[in-house]
Amino acid sequence: MLAGVELGGTKCVCVLATPDGEILAEERVDTLAPEVTLPQIKAVLGRWFGAGRPIGGLGIASFGPVDVDRASPRWGHIGQTPKPGWAGIAVAQELGDGLCVPVTLDTDVNGAALAELRWGAAAGLQDFAYVTIGTGVGVGLIVGGKPIAGFGHSELGHMRVARVAGDTWEGSCPYHGDCVEGLAAGPAIIARSGMRASLIALDDPIWHLVGHAIAQMLHNIVLTATPRRIFLGGGVITAQPQLFPIIRRELQASLNGYVSSAELDRIEEYVVPPSLGTRAGPLGPIALAAASVPRSLLQVVPAA
Ligand code: ADP
Ligand code: ZN
Repeated sequence: MLAGVELGGTKCVCVLATPDGEILAEERVDTLAPEVTLPQIKAVLGRWFGAGRPIGGLGIASFGPVDVDRASPRWGHIGQTPKPGWAGIAVAQELGDGLCVPVTLDTDVNGAALAELRWGAAAGLQDFAYVTIGTGVGVGLIVGGKPIAGFGHSELGHMRVARVAGDTWEGSCPYHGDCVEGLAAGPAIIARSGMRASLIALDDPIWHLVGHAIAQMLHNIVLTATPRRIFLGGGVITAQPQLFPIIRRELQASLNGYVSSAELDRIEEYVVPPSLGTRAGPLGPIALAAASVPRSLLQVVPAA
């Protein structure tokens, strides 16, 4: 078995699963101050590990920014974040302490991407992008079966993009204004429209602006890593599937025939929804844990 913790902005999910991605137990803890939340998570893990179960690893899929560089003395620490009390907290050390198993850590979106690779729609693909448009814009860009990373994890959701001609809205990202997240995430849609996104008409011009910003990000992702497929999900996309044709059309218009590939020619099969749905979040840390445990140890021994 493998244990996982998904650290989210509003809730944290503790998961116990088999190496096949079958969820055996799931427990939620509200994300409050770390002094409150981390002991609650540790209590759940303590119960699972203490019950004599053969648990081979712990995966942590965290909100960012978080130091994911194994060579860094700050590995496992949360970076600068507006979440009260969390900046500088050593989440990997605190949660892994005393469990005597390998601890693997990455961002929530990289975890979800690897879960789609192991058990979902990305099975068999070594190069793909997993994009979620929700409260923020997150991208897990997988190259050669691994999330791209250098001194830290990527933050493609904050890339700057070309604007629709004449659109001068300042955007809602507190750091960059009109980066993709500042133009296309849920809070940006609410800030621009002044109403709940669910009340905006399907043919409102805002969807073109949102779809254009997302397509511009995909343009850059295609040119950076030539992913074989792009999975596009999250709360905004799930609720507004009319964005798919807009994004596909705007992506092709933006690339303007410069990149030719069989993948891009079949755009309906290139920009597609992921398949794990709400399971991608909790299975993210399990996929991270699975990557750290040797395959031989994960093999299920058949009954004699
Ligand atoms: P998170 O990103 O927090 O993990 P989700 O992927 O579920 O969560 O996305 C939540 C976001 O989806 C919210 O910011 C919300 O504004 C947005 N959202 C919810 N309902 C709709 C809707 N009907 N249309 C567009 N956006 C929506
Ligand atoms: Zn930004």
